Amino acid sequence: MNKTIVAASVAGLALLALYPVLLPNPYYIHLLETILIYAILLFGLDIVVGYTGQVSLGHAGLFGIGSYATGVLVAKLGAPFWLALPASVAAAALFGALLALPALRVTGPYLAMVTLAFGTIIQILINEMTFLTEGPMGLKIAKPVVAGARLSEVQYYYLVAALLVLSLLVVHRILKSHLGRAFEALRDSPIASDCMGVSVYRYKVYAFILSAGFAGLAGSLYAYSEEYINPSSYSFELTILFLLAVIMGGRKTRSGALIGALIVVMLPSLLADIALFRQIAVGAAALGVLGAALAIARRRATPRGVAVPLLATLGMAAFSFKLENIVDWRLTIFGLMTLFVVYYLQDGIVGYLQGLLGRARRPAPALAAAGATAPFPRVAAGQAGAPLLDAGQILMQFGGLKALNQVDLRVRQGAVHGLIGPNGSGKSTMMNVLTGIYTPTAGRVTFDGAVISGRTPAQIALGGVARTFQNVQLFGEMSATENVLVGLHHSFRASVLDVMLRTPRQRREEQAARERAASILAFVGLADLADEEARNLPYGKQRLLEIGRALGLNPRLLLLDEPAAGLTAPDIKELMAIIRKIREHGITIILIEHHMDVVMALSDTVTVLDFGQKIAEGQPAAVQSDPKVIEAYLGGSGAEHGGATAPAPH
Ligand code: ADP
Ligand code: MG
Repeated sequence: MNKTIVAASVAGLALLALYPVLLPNPYYIHLLETILIYAILLFGLDIVVGYTGQVSLGHAGLFGIGSYATGVLVAKLGAPFWLALPASVAAAALFGALLALPALRVTGPYLAMVTLAFGTIIQILINEMTFLTEGPMGLKIAKPVVAGARLSEVQYYYLVAALLVLSLLVVHRILKSHLGRAFEALRDSPIASDCMGVSVYRYKVYAFILSAGFAGLAGSLYAYSEEYINPSSYSFELTILFLLAVIMGGRKTRSGALIGALIVVMLPSLLADIALFRQIAVGAAALGVLGAALAIARRRATPRGVAVPLLATLGMAAFSFKLENIVDWRLTIFGLMTLFVVYYLQDGIVGYLQGLLGRARRPAPALAAAGATAPFPRVAAGQAGAPLLDAGQILMQFGGLKALNQVDLRVRQGAVHGLIGPNGSGKSTMMNVLTGIYTPTAGRVTFDGAVISGRTPAQIALGGVARTFQNVQLFGEMSATENVLVGLHHSFRASVLDVMLRTPRQRREEQAARERAASILAFVGLADLADEEARNLPYGKQRLLEIGRALGLNPRLLLLDEPAAGLTAPDIKELMAIIRKIREHGITIILIEHHMDVVMALSDTVTVLDFGQKIAEGQPAAVQSDPKVIEAYLGGSGAEHGGATAPAPH
């Protein structure tokens, strides 16, 4: 483990342990306790917001469910702590699942609306179900009894601190495992996740349930902490504050969630006290002036980069003196802060600090010498020449347009099958039909004897069909190794419990997958770039990484959509060598390519599409001299004909 991390963890633990001793004031102990409780919730919210990239406006509701599950169990049924706490986690997770299953079929603004409605309904239900919740009167809960004695405020603080550390550990383990990689992948490219066998819908639901569980835990702890709960604590405003906290703290970091929790607790009290607000505003303005002066002195500032923060902080300071009362303005100030964060602080405070300090690259764990693991197992040579894939009479209609019109495609086991045609002739559409992204309007696809048309992309991928994309679809914020590891997702059997406990099985699988990933990266010539974020790789390397990721699936059929597009001549040579080697391993390939020399050199059979119809098929040489093919290429945009090395325009 990294030395800085160890030092920070030790310091953090010491601080948590010594805080009540150093500051033996019940008010401050309760304050930190509250911050820790919100941090637990934000760890969970970050799974949904930071990792899977979904917006949830329902987390105040889930938090409320956790609180009220505890409240009702304790106040009405006298349930003990050890029962109430897990029951609250389970209740919130259950509601999370009920919300997620239908809600996560939609995305973006629709998801925001559904979760918002959920949060509102929960608050109303808490208000109205007086027989359980006592409505606006609220419920009283005493501190938990552990080992026969009621916990004091300080003891309870230690309990919360211990659960925070535990939550941190669990969240961190989950997010660094194959599950976390699945969450992150589906945010960066849902379509590629599905095509790597990682069902986007399923993992979104998992993420949501986990996240809801943490909200429930936080809610339960909050109920015991406050010793009194009422519906107004779980309002829409709190939900907005949670989102602001995750984004402002810094998504995809645990330290960001901790900073965010500080914001959740401090912001409302800051905005309740005009004198305090003035002090902070003046302080911020002073920092703004200082920062601007420094930036100008170091000549590293753009006029806008200086002016905006300076004016913002000065404006806030001036504004604070105009005000009598800050409470009426709190929503406006939330809104302004949100705008500021979205425009100027997208990576949050933690991301900003990392940017200042220069983000330390995490060293990759030591690996067995590359080559110890084969990049991919040899595919059992089936009956050579037997059709592996058979697409019959495929019709794909988009409105009035027949992108594919009664196309037959038979691909023999072990062959490299070229698929060419002018732009817009339906090649990529064919690939999308074969991989389940589109369900054909008519016709059916069989792979290895089973009908696959109508199955989901993830099912088809797990059945042994891997692909790359014409417009590269990598997981941009993940390293090259992590991209390949998503391709290897199918090799993990470890459950979420295995991951939380880091069982031998989980460690074994992770180690094996990492070794495989290293050998795949070596195979596609990316060993040196293993830790580089995919979005920072040169374009040609991105295409090779996509092939590597696809190989992780152990495919029997590999579909390459214009793999040479945009590549330099030496890169194309390397690509051709790689394709040949893949083929030698017994993997069947469908190759869409505009570079005629590449297709002709590699393919055993070539199929030509034009306007969605098959116009020729056969040996490369025969196809190349077919008058219909020449006509199609000349008739289309002439640039493609013989444009042997010109990159495809699209
Ligand atoms: P190619 O890969 O051969 O260049 P495509 O398969 O991408 O061609 O496109 C074939 C035709 O289908 C084009 O006219 C394209 O505009 C159309 N098309 C592809 N996908 C869609 C879609 N999702 N909706 C509507 N039209 C589409
Ligand atoms: Mg295409």
